This record gives sequence, structure tokens and C-alpha cells, in this order.
Amino acid sequence: MLSRLPRQHHRKIATNTELDQEEFDTVVLATPYQFSDISFSPLLANPPDEIPYVTLHVTLFTSPHRLSPSFFNLGSSTSADEVPDMVLTTLPEGVDLGAKKGKRGVGPAGFWSVSLVRKIEMDDSTTQYLYKVFSPEKLTKTWMSGLLGLEVPKKDIGGDFEGIDRLSRHDISWSNEKVWHSYPYELPRLSFERIRLEGELMEPRGIWYTSGIESFISAMETSALMGKNVARLIANGFMVESALGSYEFELGLTDAEFLLMKAAVHAMDY
Ligand SMILES: Cc1cc2nc3c(=O)[nH]c(=O)nc-3n(C[C@H](O)[C@H](O)[C@H](O)COP(=O)(O)OP(=O)(O)OC[C@H]3O[C@@H](n4cnc5c(N)ncnc54)[C@H](O)[C@@H]3O)c2cc1C
Repeated sequence: MLSRLPRQHHRKIATNTELDQEEFDTVVLATPYQFSDISFSPLLANPPDEIPYVTLHVTLFTSPHRLSPSFFNLGSSTSADEVPDMVLTTLPEGVDLGAKKGKRGVGPAGFWSVSLVRKIEMDDSTTQYLYKVFSPEKLTKTWMSGLLGLEVPKKDIGGDFEGIDRLSRHDISWSNEKVWHSYPYELPRLSFERIRLEGELMEPRGIWYTSGIESFISAMETSALMGKNVARLIANGFMVESALGSYEFELGLTDAEFLLMKAAVHAMDY
């Protein structure tokens, strides 16, 4: 049996001490198990491993300012127009961060990318620029001041505790910050996630998992292929079961023989 506590109704269910319960032949878990708020009873024989996602802070903001050449060490003769619209960072030669994660896993640049998404001509004939930043942590006021070439107030030098919302609306006219679990750290591994979460002859049965692929690669195409793969295997299972059912009838198999045959066919799916 699958117990589901929809997140949006969590509180309501807790106060009513009610739980929706229904039985299914087949359940497809199509979201990373670790974020799903789903539990199984009896417990899964093969619960999925936790996917080691990168925590990605995505910051979108608009500003009348261009990116500062000095922030990218481009020299004083470089104009703001010459700063690339997209900057992707990498590691300096000889720097190896090994398996470090988060802020320690990004390298000395401290961010992964900055890009100009769009130039917006305003009704009052001024120009705003929409930027996107990918970083391992929330951006700070001091960092953003450097990026846009704003003067950093003396009190902020060496201090990095305030968010970008503390900047003037004249410098950052709009912003939106979101944290994503975007893609996995590619750690060496000996095996890949199973597509079926049940044990070979144990209950619960018929539990399929599409998001195991995300521990290897996180992309729409690969997840769609997982869905297709699971749908095909479920359909195959139904066809085999119905064929076995007629064999049982025609051959007069005992229940034990029938179950044994079913288990053997089921094991071939792994
Ligand atoms: C920031 C970011 C950028 C990305 N960029 C790209 C890209 O450029 N190209 C690309 O190919 N891929 C990209 N991906 C990866 C891509 O989005 C995923 O691989 C893909 O969405 C996985 O599809 P899915 O249907 O398996 O899962 P999801 O799209 O994650 O869908 C799972 C659904 O299940 C719902 N859910 C969760 N728990 C429950 C519950 N208890 N009950 C009911 N519903 C539940 C969720 O709300 C969600 O709607 C990106 C991902 C992120 C986070």
C-alpha cells in the first residue's frame, strides 16, 4: 500500500488525522523519492538511494547597469559594451577541487555563470538589462555591487551578510531568487538505480521508479525515455500475466506452479 501525503494538504491531513488510502496493482513513482513526501507500507525492499543533487541558486534581476569590466579583471580601457553577454566560469590551471561540493566546489570565481537574458527598452526611453546568475549560494549585496561596478559602502567592505534586496531600487529594479536541485554530482558508482523498487518475491509489488536516471543525468529527454521504458515493461507484464493465465487454465497448473512461473517471468524484467 502506498501512503500519500500531498504537501499542499499536509496540515489539513495532520489535524484531521485522516489519510487517503487506495490500493493499486501498479504504481509509478515519477519524481525523486527524496523530495516526494511519499512513504510505502510495507517498506520498500529496494528504496532508492538519495540523488546527490547540486544545490543551484538562480538569481534573475533587472538593472540599468551593465556588467563591470573591472569585476572580470578586463582592464581600465575596456568599456562595459565589451564585457561578454554570457560568462561561464571554469577552474584555473592546476586547481583540482576533487569532490568538494557547494561553495567549496565552484572554484575561486565563486559563481558558475552570469548572462544577459534580455535588453528591455522602457516606456520612459531608459534601458533595463535582465540578467541571470547561477551560484552555489545566495548572492550578497557586496558581490552584486562588484558585478555592476557600484560603489561599495565602507561599512560593507569585508562584510558580506546582506542580500541583494538591500540594494537601492535604482540599481536593482526587480529580482527573483530560487533554489533548485538542478543536476547530480557525477560521483563514481558501481551500479545504477533500479527501475523496480520491490524485492523479487516480496510485497509490495508493482512499484516502478522513473527518477533513478536523475542520479546519472538530469534531462527531459532521458526522463521521457525512462517513462517510455517503464510503460513498455508494465504493458509487457500485463501481456505475460494474461498469457500465463490461459496456460494455467489449459495446463491445469497448481497454484504453486503458477506462482513459480510468474516469479520466473517477473525476474526476467530486472
Ligand atoms: C533549474 C533546472 C534546469 C534544468 N534545465 C534543463 C534543461 O535545460 N534541459 C533538460 O533537458 N533538462 C533540464 N532540467 C532537468 C529536467 O527539468 C528534469 O530532468 C525533468 O523535469 C524530469 O522530469 P520528470 O517528469 O521525471 O520529473 P519532474 O519534472 O520533476 O516532475 C515531477 C512532478 O511530480 C510532482 N510531485 C512531487 N511529489 C509529489 C507527490 N507527493 N504527489 C504528487 N506529485 C508530486 C512534482 O511537483 C512535479 O510536478 C533542469 C532542471 C532544473 C531543476
